[in-house]
Amino acid sequence: MIKTEKLTKSYGDKQVLKGIDEQINSGEVVVIIGPSGSGKSTFLRCMNLLEEPTSGKVIFEGQEINKKGVNIDSIRTKMGMVFQSFNLFPHLTVLDNIMIGPQQVKKVPKDKAEAIARKLLARMGMSEKADVYPQSLSGGQKQRIAIARALAMEPDMMLFDEPTSALDPEMVGEVLQVMKDLALEGMTMVVVTHEMGFAKEVGDRILFMDEGQVMEQGTPDEIFNHPKNERTKDFLSKVL
Ligand code: ADP
Ligand code: MG
Repeated sequence: MIKTEKLTKSYGDKQVLKGIDEQINSGEVVVIIGPSGSGKSTFLRCMNLLEEPTSGKVIFEGQEINKKGVNIDSIRTKMGMVFQSFNLFPHLTVLDNIMIGPQQVKKVPKDKAEAIARKLLARMGMSEKADVYPQSLSGGQKQRIAIARALAMEPDMMLFDEPTSALDPEMVGEVLQVMKDLALEGMTMVVVTHEMGFAKEVGDRILFMDEGQVMEQGTPDEIFNHPKNERTKDFLSKVL
């Protein structure tokens, strides 16, 4: 579904991605772990071109997307992104937060956008929250709405950047459950997280990143039970 070739990203003379060759297949759940500052967010953001790669290629559904003349807005609608900080529109109701993308970007008629939004709200168990504003929601509810908003665009894949890191501990589970359900439905997902339980249980493949590179990757069993790389071992000894 998406592939990177010799992907690099530098800020000034600091290279934060050092040539990443990766491929994520349709239906796969790839979990990215690694220390803070290792380039996990930058890698995700290069995939949907929220950051412009310095060199290398990003190929999405067979199309090289980081070159001139590509309509990146239309490609971004196919990649839903969920951030640590929710990023809901504070001046819009929950329902409107979910409807606005399909209406404005995809020109979906209002009644159809509303139907999609209400269905997603029901799926999040939040139908009764349709008309409230984000500020009255808990963190876990906000993040479920952020996921619903991304799903309303009917993306082909979802990117999650530490979606539970800003949540109080008691709300982490409800968000991880929504993500797990999505994975079980076959959604292609790339998830940066420190939730090692989720990584083990839901991940098809784990990438361990350090210093702008994928240092080691494998199945959850390979990475968590039989890590080969010393850096992976060291990282896991600190987080497990
Ligand atoms: P992670 O998500 O693994 O914590 P990031 O991708 O956020 O790592 O950051 C990787 C490195 O790039 C860090 O050293 C960070 O300080 C640097 N970095 C990230 N974004 C910027 C930016 N906009 N300008 C300069 N440096 C940045
Ligand atoms: Mg990050």
